[in-house]
Amino acid sequence: MTTTHDVIVIGGGIIGLSVADRLALSGVSVALLEKGVCGREASWAAAGVLKPGNPNRRGPIQRLQRASLELFPDYCADLQERTGIDSEYDRGGSIELLYDDQRYRMAVSEERAGNEQWTQAEQPVWRMLNPDEARDLEPVVTDDCLGALQCSFSAQVRNPRLLQALRASCSASGVCIQEATTVTELAVDGERVDGVVTDQGKLGASQVVVCAGAWSSQIDPRLGAGVQTYPVRGQVVLLDVSGVAGIRFSHIVLRKGCYLVPRPDGLVLIGATVEHEAGFDRRCTSAGVNTLMQHALTLVPGLAKAGVVGMWSGFRPGTPDRRPYIGRVPGLEGLIAATGHYRTGLALAPITAEIVADLILTGRTDRDLSLCEPGRSST
Ligand SMILES: Cc1cc2nc3c(=O)[nH]c(=O)nc-3n(C[C@H](O)[C@H](O)[C@H](O)COP(=O)(O)OP(=O)(O)OC[C@H]3O[C@@H](n4cnc5c(N)ncnc54)[C@H](O)[C@@H]3O)c2cc1C
Repeated sequence: MTTTHDVIVIGGGIIGLSVADRLALSGVSVALLEKGVCGREASWAAAGVLKPGNPNRRGPIQRLQRASLELFPDYCADLQERTGIDSEYDRGGSIELLYDDQRYRMAVSEERAGNEQWTQAEQPVWRMLNPDEARDLEPVVTDDCLGALQCSFSAQVRNPRLLQALRASCSASGVCIQEATTVTELAVDGERVDGVVTDQGKLGASQVVVCAGAWSSQIDPRLGAGVQTYPVRGQVVLLDVSGVAGIRFSHIVLRKGCYLVPRPDGLVLIGATVEHEAGFDRRCTSAGVNTLMQHALTLVPGLAKAGVVGMWSGFRPGTPDRRPYIGRVPGLEGLIAATGHYRTGLALAPITAEIVADLILTGRTDRDLSLCEPGRSST
């Protein structure tokens, strides 16, 4: 087996493309192996929402997510400069509409906790709104709404375009992209991974990065307990509201169980189901679509007149404790995992790429990975 690359990245979703791009820009020779076509799985199916997690949780993952969101504007601007492709990053903010007392009280505590940790230009990031203030921002708010929690740091990105930009950047920076190439196992010499076996043959490298999303744990049984991923299906419905009077959103609108993401061209995305038992079944189901539509119509009854443009599903990379795996895989030297990002893979892509590049280029990272280690006990 000839070592032809410094690094092999397995999987061409948002994580694999971001990692490969970052490494190639630093002068590393990278091969990216993708079993289908790059950027067509979870990363394509996602809603494109980039929001900080629950501010009442103050752990290292929360901090990684916040740091990643702070990187996003430059990340997209830089990609656009290099590729000419606009990922439509838009920090328009989100409002979560509150309809029950319990959730309202939790939102008050989240506003306080969030602003204690994070302000932007000395302005609070979270703000409680009364119903009139919420209606001023989004006229679609119904009369039974108790109030809303606004987050000015939430943003959205047009993920299919971001993926296109990343792929173009990878090609331009010399990543050897091999699509229609399935990695069937790791090539291991003693305790050292020195490449991969694919359905096209063997390929050598001194480091291998597993970015295969929901499929990661299927790559090789030797990943064992180190990396345990499984698919969590999410279904999405896309509506066209351009001809519907009175329906205009400028924020991402959230309510427990559902979110509405307005795109600049008059489309509104309704997301998303969270199905842990569906396996790799790609269908959109009548029950899934019905649930989404019921939530959306309760939130904004006027959506009943909107046209249905399409629907799709994707497989979030779930893990037993819902935390990603980012870091070196114990017991297999030369192997790094960057997978299991579950519901926040888009949001975490820039920071994941930075961490993996630091581990490969310098052998260390300043980021706190204490809850993301591969091989951790998930009980
Ligand atoms: C409906 C839905 C809505 C979502 N909304 C959001 C959101 O708004 N914001 C957010 O941050 N996140 C969201 N997510 C989550 C986000 O999409 C994922 O966390 C993220 O896309 C994971 O990226 P990935 O690159 O790890 O996986 P993927 O995009 O699934 O990429 C993995 C790639 O690996 C390839 N692969 C697998 N096995 C092999 C193999 N053996 N050999 C070679 N290649 C292989 C696959 O073909 C695939 O292309 C959503 C997900 C879904 C499904």
